[in-house]
Amino acid sequence: MILPIALAVVFVALIIALCLYASFSIRSSLYGKIHWRGNSDRKQIALTFDDGPHPKYTREILNILKQENVPATFFLVGKKVEAFPEVAQEIKAAGHELAFHGFTHRPLWMKSRRMLEEEVNKSREVFRRVLGFEPQLFRPPYGVRGRSIMQTAQKLGWKTILWTRAGWDWTEISGAEVARRALRKPRAGGILLLHDSDGPSLEADRSRTVEALKIIIPNLKQQGFSFARVSEICRD
Ligand SMILES: [Zn+2]
Repeated sequence: MILPIALAVVFVALIIALCLYASFSIRSSLYGKIHWRGNSDRKQIALTFDDGPHPKYTREILNILKQENVPATFFLVGKKVEAFPEVAQEIKAAGHELAFHGFTHRPLWMKSRRMLEEEVNKSREVFRRVLGFEPQLFRPPYGVRGRSIMQTAQKLGWKTILWTRAGWDWTEISGAEVARRALRKPRAGGILLLHDSDGPSLEADRSRTVEALKIIIPNLKQQGFSFARVSEICRD
């Protein structure tokens, strides 16, 4: 009697582990294809900024990108596009790539189909209204996804983008440490995750990201890397 129970427990534990891997691993395509790196045929890196727009830090980052003549991709939270439409328009006007990052920044995992539809439809509507187009790239908040949101993304023709390397700028580390982590073993086709705002909140202090960026871009250039938008390096 004990053996079948033990086997059942092991089986259930394995299924749970597999579901968690499918939802949380940045390299798992079990729930649908994700891109955690781009094509490596050119020595290019894609800089990505999540959670904006933010009136202060997005603009500071835009200034650095302009000075360095470097493109980037911004994964925008729908309700912040609504709150700061002029900042979102400035990102677009500067020629950077814009992408979806949820409407409220809630994790899109274990949610009802109705709630997921609401998130997706509100994001699409605000992009059309404020920016005049609908992006084709999507990064699920926290990188967490479930089967339903991946099916929705696929149906809409969105590419789901995660990342190769993170600067860990959502933690309390210094700007220099963010840069050190972001610069660890850079590789051609790498997607670098940074933040110009903070999750669902309209408030943020991203001064350390700004500080880090001033180190990251010149350092990568010195190593012979150039920069590309995500859609330019995720071509398959
Ligand atoms: Zn985020």
